[in-house]
Amino acid sequence: MYLDLDPARIVLTRVLGKVWRGAYFARTSPLHLVEMADPPLDSAEFVRVRNRLCGICGSDLHQLFVDAGLDVAPVALPSNERIYLGHEMVGEVVEVGANVINFQVGDRVVRWGRADDCLARGSAELCPACKRGHRVLCQRASEPRDFKPVGGGFGDSFITPASSLVKVLPELSDEQAIFTEPCAVAIHAAWRRIPNPGEKVLVIGMGTIGFLLVQAIRALQPDCLITAVAQFDWQAELARELGADDVFMAHEDGYAVVGSRTNAQVYTGRGNNRMLLGGYDVTFDVVGIEATLNNALRWTRAGGDVVIVGVNLHRMKLDVTPIWYQEVNLLGAIGHDVVEWAGEPVSTFDLAQRWMRDGLLRVEPLLTHTFALDDYREAFAVAIDKANSRSIKVAFTL
Ligand SMILES: [Zn+2]
Ligand SMILES: [Zn+2]
Repeated sequence: MYLDLDPARIVLTRVLGKVWRGAYFARTSPLHLVEMADPPLDSAEFVRVRNRLCGICGSDLHQLFVDAGLDVAPVALPSNERIYLGHEMVGEVVEVGANVINFQVGDRVVRWGRADDCLARGSAELCPACKRGHRVLCQRASEPRDFKPVGGGFGDSFITPASSLVKVLPELSDEQAIFTEPCAVAIHAAWRRIPNPGEKVLVIGMGTIGFLLVQAIRALQPDCLITAVAQFDWQAELARELGADDVFMAHEDGYAVVGSRTNAQVYTGRGNNRMLLGGYDVTFDVVGIEATLNNALRWTRAGGDVVIVGVNLHRMKLDVTPIWYQEVNLLGAIGHDVVEWAGEPVSTFDLAQRWMRDGLLRVEPLLTHTFALDDYREAFAVAIDKANSRSIKVAFTL
């Protein structure tokens, strides 16, 4: 399955999609599910992987529903004409290039990245981001490559440089392994602002990443108070089960709730414009839209930190005065990283697997639906319509 990023298809689908959901799956849309012959391994560093299971990520849905402003920063970067969907996969190595030494046929693997960073390019010299291990921020990511990974997780197989794969611990099931990437993302996000002992932490948004973030924060700081904001009752229930001390609902009056939970003072100005003095020490916005980010900035105490974790490819109208008037720090988090753990540098991908194995990250309750790839329309509909389907993670069996 791939997206053909032809501008005419994108524009047409965007217009039609406003009135007809089927436009995103129509023949005129960017989305294609086709039979392709297995391409030959492009280089001696390549590996072929046969997929077994692949989760649908929110970012897959954003791309599929062409949900991005044309005036936001990443859109200025060159991109491939073709995007293969699906990166939360687990599969088996079925062929290795002559120079591959770290992987063998039969190894169970997950996909680590897009293979556009310095290491995947085999560069002798690393950019500053790659040097410190945060390969997602590679400065060379948009430069042309002389090799091409082909295929993604929404298909039976793909080829990619070996350096963009990670082996799966034998103790993990396939159903756990597909959470390696989202767990690595949640761990990295928690690392952007690890709570101090006794601090009050707010996590807005209980989708897959929200549930994982609550657990990652707890693993890093057992002595903190975590409040989750959920949209549906069943999300609230699961948030409590997975370690949130306290939950309130998105439809409640957040200012009143945050005021009482953190002993902050709520002030109301003209036009019901409200402001808190006091609030949470740290707020993670896992939704990342205008409403949640405006709230996050106002619900965080002076000198506290807000981490944007949610993906939103649109310009927003924000009141940024809390940043200077209250010295609230606004931080971003993208992808995975290398962190210092137990005295050694470790990829959050490896940490994700260890924490799943050791029970610090419980992912079993998060996989709610699986579909065959041919039923992709239904799978995407279920992934989006959480109110009716109660979906958290939807995956394709391959
Ligand atoms: Zn993802
Ligand atoms: Zn780099």
